[in-house]
Amino acid sequence: MDEFRNEIEDILDRIDAIDVLDVFLIAFIIYGAFLLLRGTAAMALLRGAALILVGVVILARALDLEVLDFLIRHSLTGLIIAVPIIFQPEIRRALERIGRTGLRAWAQPGFIDLIDTVTKTAMELAVQRHGALIVFERETGLQNYVETGVAIDGEPSAELLGGIFYPNSPLHDGAVILREGRMTAAGCTLPLSETRLPGEMGLRHRAGLGVTEGTDAVSLMVSEETGMVAVAMDGRLHTRLDEQSLHQLLLRLLAPNGSDQGVEQ
Ligand code: ATP
Ligand code: MG
Repeated sequence: MDEFRNEIEDILDRIDAIDVLDVFLIAFIIYGAFLLLRGTAAMALLRGAALILVGVVILARALDLEVLDFLIRHSLTGLIIAVPIIFQPEIRRALERIGRTGLRAWAQPGFIDLIDTVTKTAMELAVQRHGALIVFERETGLQNYVETGVAIDGEPSAELLGGIFYPNSPLHDGAVILREGRMTAAGCTLPLSETRLPGEMGLRHRAGLGVTEGTDAVSLMVSEETGMVAVAMDGRLHTRLDEQSLHQLLLRLLAPNGSDQGVEQ
């Protein structure tokens, strides 16, 4: 027991202000990284990997498995190098978000009008139970998805959007992509998210969420089945939006320097 106390005193003796600062900085960086990744697919992956690692470490220590212990200790460096490679898209977007200065096209006049129009249209479509999927392109180019659809170059209006998403209209299947305040394409195919989603959500929500996982796009879904309006950004889904919350959320997410900090399910 005495030996133990001596050891602790010894450690405490060696700690100075710089060490405390050191620990705080590391904690802050890890906390920041968690905040940036919270709710994303990367976070789920990281959590899974961490759980497995902890399990294996405990097993190796408890049973004194020397080879496993050796492997874990010596592969840690490799893991630290692998993380930035695996999470390159997430890290890039996080850095972009931090560095974004607000010189975005969305800051142009007409931005508020666009949000008003999209909000109003989404609520009308929801009442009529017409399904819709609308994607706002931002810094990350969505040209590869635009090309899967039919090119249009239209001023977004409730009439045009309503017409496109009218059931069985030629363009109602797939997503409308908005670029710099214009409608660029309709009928676009988006990548499907592999996240677990509530049962009533199908491919439309999976596609809307999926496009935000690899890009900084914001997407809006109107459910044909439930009339529910949802918005996704950074792989996070905000559901059950009413007119006011939709309007505010779009303003917040699409405004220059907008960042998505909350998870609302
Ligand atoms: P809803 O609540 O409106 O029924 P949902 O999430 O349950 O939506 P589905 O019922 O599967 O989704 O909706 C199918 C529609 O989703 C299709 O008609 C199509 O418009 C759209 N969709 C499916 N896959 C994609 C994709 N990869 N990219 C874009 N849109 C897609
Ligand atoms: Mg469905």
